[in-house]
Amino acid sequence: MLCSICNSPTVRPAFKARILSKHDVSYFSCPTCGFVQTEEPYWLSEAYEHTLNDEDTMVLQRNWYFADVVSSVLFTLFDRRGKFLDFGGGHGIFTRLMRDKGFDFYWDDPHGRNIFARGFEYGAEDDPIELITCIECFEHFIHPRKELEKMLGISSNIFLTTQLLPSPVPRPDAWDYYGLTHGQHISFFSVKTLRYLADQYGLHVYTNGINMHLFTKKSFHPLQFKRAIHPGALQRLRIKMTMKSKFQSDYKYIVQTKNDRLAINGTSAPHDTAYRSS
Ligand SMILES: [Zn+2]
Repeated sequence: MLCSICNSPTVRPAFKARILSKHDVSYFSCPTCGFVQTEEPYWLSEAYEHTLNDEDTMVLQRNWYFADVVSSVLFTLFDRRGKFLDFGGGHGIFTRLMRDKGFDFYWDDPHGRNIFARGFEYGAEDDPIELITCIECFEHFIHPRKELEKMLGISSNIFLTTQLLPSPVPRPDAWDYYGLTHGQHISFFSVKTLRYLADQYGLHVYTNGINMHLFTKKSFHPLQFKRAIHPGALQRLRIKMTMKSKFQSDYKYIVQTKNDRLAINGTSAPHDTAYRSS
């Protein structure tokens, strides 16, 4: 078996664990890049029977929290007027929240159904993307390196979240993030893995050492990143006073788009239709 990150053939069996209460799965660790991966994940169709993992009771709280953090990162370290992409954006919660905060975010996810950010799907023909967010996706990727390369084809700034492996690699019953009961987590990263990837693509990597990481060609003092991901009350206020929420302009855009589409098809606008039918 080859390491999915560094292609090394020297991956070592780490342990076996029972996934979804029925599959005995082998996990392998790579001494070269510090990555841990499962064997070929043949159980994923069962694991994704429901796209939204019912154990993910943090879904709204997490999106709300990371929207706050990412707002601060964009506001302080990047061009806040740029366009942004939430890669693997699921149901579009994060994209909607970021637009509500005034950042021009778009959604993309080949496996997800956009519910909350319809009308703001990413198109490859769009303007350059200043930064990509990838929230709690890397641990789901079968081929993380390929996914990273897809992202780097769009932007060289990537803010991602995934829990880093503690050291030494924990036993299966000692780390919830293995997600044995839902079976969706198959790729696990260490700081060493992040540094390996950064070296491979000529990037800097900044991390809080726990769950928030930034790949970028830009160079910052590590303290700038640390400050950015811990916005204080004053910073939050500055962002709120400077950025203009897009919820109203988005509403107008969506309605206008619908009316334009109906006009092209030779149908009346929605409000006219409602009036006539009443
Ligand atoms: Zn490796």
